[in-house]
Amino acid sequence: MILISACLAGENCKYSGGNNLVEEIRELYERGEAVCVCPERDGGLPVPRDPAEIINGRVISIHGRDVTDYYVRGAEAGMEVCRRYGCIKAVLKANSPSCGPHAVYDGTFSHRLVNGQCGIFAAMLKEAGVQCMDENEYVQSVTGGSK
Ligand code: SF4
Repeated sequence: MILISACLAGENCKYSGGNNLVEEIRELYERGEAVCVCPERDGGLPVPRDPAEIINGRVISIHGRDVTDYYVRGAEAGMEVCRRYGCIKAVLKANSPSCGPHAVYDGTFSHRLVNGQCGIFAAMLKEAGVQCMDENEYVQSVTGGSK
């Protein structure tokens, strides 16, 4: 079973109330090969919600509210699902402060990325030895780079 960010399978759980549907990832879910989690929603944040970014190790909303506890709670809930299904691989939404496996925004809400820093949930998954890729890497792996 592969763990996936729910918004990539088409769930309307992202901060704006929409999704980040990637057809190849929805197919993975529909074939019964994946389980979905949304750490931000599962940690108790509403949909829609304010966007947030990581700054000095804390997650701060665009209106200055510290929402770190929600992110940590949601990440722990996601880890619980990961363990329950024995997932050793995850396909995660790039650049998300929860799910981003390779980079996150720099905390200034100006679309600048910090490469090498990952989201709160992605960090927990990696710590547990789960192999993490983003949606672009997954699509490339199944299409052989033809997309
Ligand atoms: S927390 Fe993860 S699954 Fe939920 S909307 Fe953000 S990127 Fe998608």
